[in-house]
Amino acid sequence: MEFRDLKKQYRKNKRKINSAIKKVLKEGVFIGGSPVQELEDKLAEYVGVKYCITCANGTDALTLVLMAWGIGPGDAVFVPDFTFFATAEAPAFLGATPVFVDVDKDTFNMDPNSLEQAINEVNKEGHLKSKVVIPVDLFGLPADYDRIVPIAKKYNLFVLEDAAQGFGGSLRNHKAGSFGDASITSFFPVKPLGCYGDGGAIFTEDDNLMEIITSLKTHGSNNNDKYDNIRIGMNSRLDTIQAEILKVKLDIFKDYELNQIIKNTVTIKSKLSSIYKFQMIPDKYISSYAQLSIILQSLHERENFIRFLKAKNIPTYIYYKKPLSTLIAMNQRSINMKNKVTHHISERIVSIPIGSYLKSKEIKKIISTLILFKRNEN
Ligand SMILES: *Cc1c(COP(=O)(O)O)cnc(C)c1O
Repeated sequence: MEFRDLKKQYRKNKRKINSAIKKVLKEGVFIGGSPVQELEDKLAEYVGVKYCITCANGTDALTLVLMAWGIGPGDAVFVPDFTFFATAEAPAFLGATPVFVDVDKDTFNMDPNSLEQAINEVNKEGHLKSKVVIPVDLFGLPADYDRIVPIAKKYNLFVLEDAAQGFGGSLRNHKAGSFGDASITSFFPVKPLGCYGDGGAIFTEDDNLMEIITSLKTHGSNNNDKYDNIRIGMNSRLDTIQAEILKVKLDIFKDYELNQIIKNTVTIKSKLSSIYKFQMIPDKYISSYAQLSIILQSLHERENFIRFLKAKNIPTYIYYKKPLSTLIAMNQRSINMKNKVTHHISERIVSIPIGSYLKSKEIKKIISTLILFKRNEN
């Protein structure tokens, strides 16, 4: 069994994907061109925002937004302690200070109470200026924007939604990618909408921000004249081949994959949620299931669980083994609250195979193996 079956995804959609790639080879335009613009229009429409700006990857997308807002040394950027490294790496790379906020024990997303407490501590301490909060839509589930956005407003912070894993998820019909003053996603192959290499995008309603980011991603050029550079930027583009692939894959995602992954997850959870604690998806939320994660009772039980599944050829992964605040790279450059929930979760969490292309035989095997594990344990 594959953890995420990209080979099967390709086999099922081979004809469409091959012809998309061939089209680019025939046209001979490999950077920019109309496919990139067409993809950006399609993505903006799907997410329901005015602008989509593609770039080279999700990490660049985070960095570009923070650069456009002028974030740097002396600024505090509030990030969840339980996420992929890039969420905190982007502000640290620009010299700002990541402040690690604890997460909710059920949704594993940024805890609004913990956020407000962290803001108050930073403001009271007085060394840093509180500037940005980066909520993460972890494992496909949008963060608690109903509570986080008002807190950000109250303290005058920008909201940068990290929807690298959240694409396709929603809250009351609003799609992930639409909750921040700016939002980002990643097209890394195993993300909900993946390409065949690296890729990323930024979403915003803000005309001015769109202009600055468009300039920053092309060496800080004047947007009317490529060789009239008006700021220091970077080179961050989505390749034309990836844009054509994503145009095809976005349609497949909309028409089939998102519904199918939700169905597969419902089947698995309906048989297992009485004996396992899954990431909670609250009312009015839809997850796009970048991961299907469960919490075991202890570090020890997790070790046994992983070994048991491996023996039955079911792969597992641990996202994430360590709170970001404990990583060596973050020594001295971050502010670390006592994030008890993050520590608890990172010792017990494990992700099991999920995808739109799981066979019903594979789903049955996952269910029966997980039931068997609990029986053997007790
Ligand atoms: C994958 C990921 C990123 C970075 O995306 P890349 O395209 O790999 O640079 C950022 N944030 C989160 C939460 C991610 O999962």
